[in-house]
Amino acid sequence: MIKVNENFCRLAPNYLFSEVARKIQTFQKANPEAHVIKMSIGDVTRPLCPSAVEALHRAADDQGHPDTFHGYGPEQGYAFLAEKICQFDYAPRGISVQPDEIFISDGAKSDLGNIGDIFSPDCVAAITDPVYPVYVDTNVMAGRRVVFLPCNEANDFVPELPSEPVDLIYLCYPNNPTGTTLTRAQLKVWVDYALASGAVILFDSAYECFITEADIPHSIYEIPGAERCAIEFRSFSKTAGFTGMRCGYTVVPHALKGVDSLGHEVDLNNLWRRRQTTKFNGASYPIQRAAEAIFTPSGRIQIRESVDYYLRNAAILRQGVTAAGLSCRGGVNAPYVWVKTPDGITSWEFFDRLLAQTHVACTPGVGFGSCGEGYVRLTAFNTLAATEMAMDRISKFKI
Ligand code: PLP
Repeated sequence: MIKVNENFCRLAPNYLFSEVARKIQTFQKANPEAHVIKMSIGDVTRPLCPSAVEALHRAADDQGHPDTFHGYGPEQGYAFLAEKICQFDYAPRGISVQPDEIFISDGAKSDLGNIGDIFSPDCVAAITDPVYPVYVDTNVMAGRRVVFLPCNEANDFVPELPSEPVDLIYLCYPNNPTGTTLTRAQLKVWVDYALASGAVILFDSAYECFITEADIPHSIYEIPGAERCAIEFRSFSKTAGFTGMRCGYTVVPHALKGVDSLGHEVDLNNLWRRRQTTKFNGASYPIQRAAEAIFTPSGRIQIRESVDYYLRNAAILRQGVTAAGLSCRGGVNAPYVWVKTPDGITSWEFFDRLLAQTHVACTPGVGFGSCGEGYVRLTAFNTLAATEMAMDRISKFKI
């Protein structure tokens, strides 16, 4: 029989969302009259903005005419979109990113999962706990050693520098699942550490558009020197409701270098370009046209409305949780509210009691890592009406 990649056998079972779904289903079966509100989902609920929809229609028409038909596109994305990203996502923050440092893809998840291809399997990965599971699982698949960086009340959810040498550092801010952020000064600690140690930071800023406070960096490249030690991942999923469209991008600066076993300097931008041109054929033309449309004046207003809608939901959730006497984080610069369970109750116990008493479903924090035990995540990705109803029920919740 064929030998398998045994690293896959070392993956921890990922039953979080299936178990949440199973428990909701069982509860609903036993209580058919109950109206369950799912505050557990991490997917957007508002439709695409009109500007993106119009661009999609126009692109579909382009594909139907010989003069405007597009076949295979550039693997790293069309220049029309890369230029807009530089112009609107970076230049206004004083960051100089060139179009050939941008790699457009079918979403941040793929890039975060694939980026490991350009690093040695010997690299040690430092990953915060709790965490978006993709970073851990893809490093386990590659056979890499993972060092966890606990984020908890003791360190105010700001990870401490690793106590042993590491090569890859995954940082996600605003954070999923905790909704917490790093200030400029806190992120600078990591950039300085990476520059001094030769580590590379993989900075996931998929939730950047939810930042409302002035001192929170939107991009790691706001920190001096980050172009020499960091790769940034961005997504149109939460920014523009593209979860079902699939589009994101990764910035690999030319200034970022690695080294081969002979000590020769290697340009990481070139390596990633080689990886993408070999294994990826680009995001589709209509999707990139739709993404481009969010940078038009009307598109920018429309996507801002959606983000503000979710932020309003997040504020409502915080209000409800606080009224119930529970403490929480997040929800100010992020669509997630991270709620501490009272009296040492486990995440799953809290989930069960909240569902039974209020018919509101949350996501048990322990599913994001052992440091998530004793917390649950609530999401702002729901309608205002459902959020208000959930808040009303949660505010009367008696543990
Ligand atoms: N990064 C984080 C932290 C996420 O929470 C998600 C999706 O939930 C992603 C990346 C994936 O983004 P995309 O939809 O662009 O693949």
